[in-house]
Amino acid sequence: MKVLARNVEATTMRAMQFARVGHPLLLVERPMPLPGEGQILVKVSACGVCRTDLHIVEGDIRGTLPIVPGHEVVGRVLAKGANVTRFDLDDRVGIPWLASTCGRCPYCLKRDENLCDDPAFTGFSVDGGYASHVVADADFCFAIPPTIDDAHAAPLLCAGLIGYRAFSMCGDARRIGFYGFGASAHILAQLATGLGCRIAAFTRPGDEEGQEFARKLGCVWAGGSNMTPPFELDAAIIFAPVGELVPQALAAVRKGGKVVCAGIHMSDIPAFPYDLLWGERKLLSVANLTRADGESFFAAIAAFPVQTKVETFALEDANRALERLREGSIKGAAVLIP
Ligand SMILES: [Zn+2]
Ligand SMILES: [Zn+2]
Repeated sequence: MKVLARNVEATTMRAMQFARVGHPLLLVERPMPLPGEGQILVKVSACGVCRTDLHIVEGDIRGTLPIVPGHEVVGRVLAKGANVTRFDLDDRVGIPWLASTCGRCPYCLKRDENLCDDPAFTGFSVDGGYASHVVADADFCFAIPPTIDDAHAAPLLCAGLIGYRAFSMCGDARRIGFYGFGASAHILAQLATGLGCRIAAFTRPGDEEGQEFARKLGCVWAGGSNMTPPFELDAAIIFAPVGELVPQALAAVRKGGKVVCAGIHMSDIPAFPYDLLWGERKLLSVANLTRADGESFFAAIAAFPVQTKVETFALEDANRALERLREGSIKGAAVLIP
């Protein structure tokens, strides 16, 4: 195998590995991986902790095991496999959830590669960034705008990007409700208000700290998810994995409005009267991302820089970071630093 390598002095890497539902991640040492054809070896400098990781460790969604989670990876190229033309050694790259696609199925051929029939996902079907090093397919990585440092850039790779895809699905909506104000919403609120949208933020009832945080980031109104916003919504994005929010959001959007479910997993949606959907309201889900989403998202970030709020944890503290995310006590995003 032809590998163009530099600076790879270490022969082993560290990773937080997840092996069994109900068991914590364990620190493991492994041989340093070599990049295959089209791949790069990346030295990780930061990896965001996404709600999807929580769904993986709680068994809500099932992928390859054991696995190293983490799909909001920022790092630098340490080595390149054969036929990698996009990046140079030492370049900073971001590795997202979409690790590779088949390139042949009807979805790939229609450029709907987020729906690929045979995809791989970082930190779910291939090892991700809860690690000191990771290999990734170079064609699926992104360059990160230089204005943002590694830790603050990490949450952009999924929370930012998937939020942006959900936002794009809202079309020309200008009055938008965000249900759940975590990592994704705190990034998108800044971008959407920068683009002239009026954002209503819905948090857990009584979470006044979260509501204050939302107002500080430009939301014109913030309240509990059980409250009625002071204006009718053109669209709503549901970030929280809570099915009960679907009828609540449908009740808050105008005729013809959209409700977009942005998470990979949601508790069951309770039965609701057809009246809530009537009036050509639309209920949608967002699945994964395309590379084109990433390119337009990072272009938007370059035009409207956002300030991500992060709380950093050592790699070895990944279980504590997940626990804090579970209890809802992270304002902004949790990021692991190896
Ligand atoms: Zn495909
Ligand atoms: Zn994610």
